[in-house]
Amino acid sequence: MSRGSSMNVAARVGRRQLLARWCHRLGALPLLKRVRPSAHGELRVLAYHRVLESSEPDGFSFDPELISASAEDFRQQMLHLKANFVPMRFEEVLDLLEHDMPLPEGATLVTFDDGYDDNYRIAFPILRDLGMSAMFFVSTGHIDSGRPYAYDWLVHMLCSAPVCTRLHVPELGVDWTVERDLPDRRRQAADLLYRVKLLDDDGQAALVARLEQAWCMPRTAGHPDCRPMSWDQLREMQRGGMEIGSHGVDHRMLAKLPRESMTAEVLGSKDALERELGVPVQVISYPVGGLDAFDHDTVEAVRGAGFRLACSYMAGVGRLGPRTRFSLPRLPVERHMDMPWFKAMMAMPELFTYDSRQRTS
Ligand SMILES: [Zn+2]
Repeated sequence: MSRGSSMNVAARVGRRQLLARWCHRLGALPLLKRVRPSAHGELRVLAYHRVLESSEPDGFSFDPELISASAEDFRQQMLHLKANFVPMRFEEVLDLLEHDMPLPEGATLVTFDDGYDDNYRIAFPILRDLGMSAMFFVSTGHIDSGRPYAYDWLVHMLCSAPVCTRLHVPELGVDWTVERDLPDRRRQAADLLYRVKLLDDDGQAALVARLEQAWCMPRTAGHPDCRPMSWDQLREMQRGGMEIGSHGVDHRMLAKLPRESMTAEVLGSKDALERELGVPVQVISYPVGGLDAFDHDTVEAVRGAGFRLACSYMAGVGRLGPRTRFSLPRLPVERHMDMPWFKAMMAMPELFTYDSRQRTS
């Protein structure tokens, strides 16, 4: 994301937050909810990535934008869903779909992308305490590896490199000196991530590998602040009522892959999950998830592999139809979202959600 577009997002965030607080203070949300056009058949699918004890951890050297909520905010958000909506499991939604029965009004699903171990350590106990469920979409190639994603490691390297390190990436027009302070480095990292999206999959992998070697920061070293979950943790979560879905094998943008590699990502993740968890896996979330992350061929491959629903990372409220069930929009939750905004987004999604950074899902 460029600095310019970061500022645009910041402006949109600011306006929505202010409007949400204002509506909350005036007690206008119930009214907005009532005047909203009929909500029959709607499905709110919340999208989280990471939940940490604090949404502003000290000295955090990974991408803070992937922190969706603090532990306490997440608990409050789940309590709000429980009291005002109908939290469901994907299994229940699929069952209704199969029997051609309508969704209850206020149907809501909670999802997590990527498979960070804080999902197990922090989100899972909260959900279990509240008697709620969520779907965890994981990239199977990372489970048990201890290895962070390449994007995460890129940010970590930039945030941890010695002061005055030179970052020279001619293919992206980058020739920078790494900034001194963490906030400035984060801005550089956001800029770099935006540019990296211009490279194809192999180009991205080559860049990260080159920097790992040049800066002596091998990704295999891992980091306690950024670990994927293990199969044992996933099995425990499944026994505790959670659902596990596919997010590909290695978090690659499916629509950008040759047919054979795309099919390998889709089938490989499904096979690994079913082998390790012992249950049919019927739902996938497209890695990255924006408009350019999946296309007609991707949908056909996903359908052909036996998936019955697929989530995108496009912002909005879904309706289950023959076409839409393979491109369900979601409502991203992000760390700067306070409770008035969260409540407003649930009440009036059209007004209070927005397409966030598509690369991150
Ligand atoms: Zn993802």
